[in-house]
Amino acid sequence: MELNENARVDTSQVDDRRGSGGGGGMGIPIPIGGGRGGIVGIIIAVVVALVGGGFGLNAATGGGGSEQGDNTSLEQKCSAQDALEQLDCRNTLYVNSIQAYWRTAMPEAFGEQYRPSKTVFFSQNVSTACGAADSGVGPFYCPADDQVYIDLTFYRLLADQLGAEGEFAQPYVLAHEYGHHVQDLLGTEAQMRRQQQRDPQSANALSVKLELQADCYAGAWAKNATGTADDRGQKIFKSITEQDISQAIDAAEKIGDDAIQQRSGRPVNPDEFTHGTSEQRKQWFTKGFTTGDPKSCDTFGAGV
Ligand SMILES: [Zn+2]
Repeated sequence: MELNENARVDTSQVDDRRGSGGGGGMGIPIPIGGGRGGIVGIIIAVVVALVGGGFGLNAATGGGGSEQGDNTSLEQKCSAQDALEQLDCRNTLYVNSIQAYWRTAMPEAFGEQYRPSKTVFFSQNVSTACGAADSGVGPFYCPADDQVYIDLTFYRLLADQLGAEGEFAQPYVLAHEYGHHVQDLLGTEAQMRRQQQRDPQSANALSVKLELQADCYAGAWAKNATGTADDRGQKIFKSITEQDISQAIDAAEKIGDDAIQQRSGRPVNPDEFTHGTSEQRKQWFTKGFTTGDPKSCDTFGAGV
């Protein structure tokens, strides 16, 4: 993968809260898993099993979810010559590419307008409209405030603990979370929550469909990423190679439910799957990538 050094990093699409240190008071812990209004992440709560430290959701600070970060230093950093050597600037540019893609793809595929959503960079803990969370839950999307949340140190965990080392794992993770935003805009997410309430027995199976669809959307983005441009029309990627795509697929496999359960020393139990097996995650990312068409991501109709 080669990024275009002439592309402008649009930091207005992120909210840098890493320096803010959280607000006062105890937040309401986020309901994870199938709860209504809960968060949808890339692996949610399984990271916790790997890194230890309980559920990691209850000690966060802040309460309202309305706090704003300060982008001043990020803005400076990402307009400098060596911006693309910086992890946070590169990740901002990935966000720019993913949203540029959906701006055209959503009306084309689904006849609906895309509404941009910010990615919040936080460190350790953060308050959201879905409740308070800490890094242990991994990157996630909060449907109540339409924002993606990530502690960028997650990538170290992804590489060191889960073995997904390739750089392209990073845009894959972000594209998966933006997949949840698209599902939110299309009403897929709300519809799935209603189904879960009607049929609690199938809650996990429905969650798997939602997650695999987000993987497939990530694949559709990856296929079209080299066509995305910044707000001045400069291409964001110079190239994306087969090796990059393998890295994304590798990451998808490493965070399959069965792989995670095995890694954490637990018996593999399909009833507890919420995100799909390694094989399924690989399969749906690949489907999105092969077709390049988000309409092909109908995990709900496909009897997954
Ligand atoms: Zn997810």
